[in-house]
Amino acid sequence: KRVEVPAAEHRINPELLDERAVRVVRTLKDAGFEAYIVGGAVRDLLVNRRPKDFDVATNATPEEVKALFRRAFIIGRRFRIVHVIFGRGREHEVVEVSTFRAYLDNSAAEQVGGNEKTSKAELANKSHAVDAAGRVLRDNVWGPQIEDAARRDFTINAMYYDPVSEIVVDYHGGLKDIERQVLRMIGDPVTRYREDPVRIVRVVRFAAKLGFQIEAKTRAPIAEMAALLDNIPVSRLFDETIKLLQTGHAVASVQELRKQGLGSRFPMLDVLIGPGADQPQHAERRKFVELALADTDRRVAENRPVAPSFLLACLLWHEVLAGWQRRRDAGDPPFPALMEAVDAVFDARVGDISGRGKLGTDMREIWGMQPRFERRTGNAPFSLVEQPRFRAGYDFLRLRADAGEVDPALAEWWEDFALGTPEEREALLAAAR
Ligand code: ATP
Ligand code: MG
Repeated sequence: KRVEVPAAEHRINPELLDERAVRVVRTLKDAGFEAYIVGGAVRDLLVNRRPKDFDVATNATPEEVKALFRRAFIIGRRFRIVHVIFGRGREHEVVEVSTFRAYLDNSAAEQVGGNEKTSKAELANKSHAVDAAGRVLRDNVWGPQIEDAARRDFTINAMYYDPVSEIVVDYHGGLKDIERQVLRMIGDPVTRYREDPVRIVRVVRFAAKLGFQIEAKTRAPIAEMAALLDNIPVSRLFDETIKLLQTGHAVASVQELRKQGLGSRFPMLDVLIGPGADQPQHAERRKFVELALADTDRRVAENRPVAPSFLLACLLWHEVLAGWQRRRDAGDPPFPALMEAVDAVFDARVGDISGRGKLGTDMREIWGMQPRFERRTGNAPFSLVEQPRFRAGYDFLRLRADAGEVDPALAEWWEDFALGTPEEREALLAAAR
């Protein structure tokens, strides 16, 4: 049932809105289409937080959307969406516009094309498929808003906000669940987790981020369905895991994962919650990662940016170290050995990193700097502090020192060197010899 909620009831503060997103909605509506802010942004507005990004949903096709904006690009294969770009360079902002999609359950999905509801456009686009485990592989079949709402995950994530009329459209009692602070899956949770096991990670993430309770029926199947997480592509699980760790409640989220019996499903988090994580010989690695997560939570609380590259460099560091050691033991020269160890860890944990170029480069830089911190003679320290990513490399060294992996005096030396005058630097170099 479609419920339209006026401003007097939902009380969204218009100051939290992003002017670009509003402009996108207005442009689409002026062209005669339906358009709304949707999903996570509406949820965040309703809990009176400033959304970090704004998605727009419309009944216009990607081609129709693209035609309305000067700088817009159709992207994606799994989901074809439009990126509308505002501003240039590092300051640029993207508003993501997606076309309402049909909700097809598994049986319908198998017969796309034979379905009477499918329009011509949908036929040209028959791309809804499931794998043997019932996982939805592609869904680019356009549909009405009511179906677009039904295919979303949680009731609180399935609302639409028209910033022009200030009306919230709610099909699944999302507003009530916001008030009650409850995460409730739309539809039958077992089916929905099977369709897309990533929802298991998402429920934990939103519970941690919002401090909401997971409703009983939504919670019940999690542990028993966790094995499905092993079926999904490494890169998708990776994306959700990164988001989970950046909620500002990373430590709590990881504990929640463990509590839900998901400990062994996250290769990246093996150090913390994987089998054997409790063993004493892993205490040092665990300490390092725990410090990194606590640090991330602190940064989020202070509204400082968190770089996924830094966090990831921390999570994967011990794997890199082990691979590096192995290669050096086999006689490989140190630097190439390090880079090869990095490649191997990337393949195993990050998956397809095309389009993640910067992430990989940043992580490599952070790791690549670590052996260079050991060299405190000649010109080496001067060129190291001039590196654009020195700060990240240093913060990483600091964490290693806090975790007991390197001598804290080394981290202090670098701090002093980085901040020192030319004379102080000479003195520090002399002292290090
Ligand atoms: P965040 O603020 O952390 O980005 P979000 O709710 O915006 O949270 P996104 O991953 O950006 O999360 O997804 C946007 C919206 O798309 C969600 O609010 C939800 O409606 C829908 N969605 C995303 N992933 C799924 C999924 N796996 N299954 C069903 N719906 C999903
Ligand atoms: Mg989002």
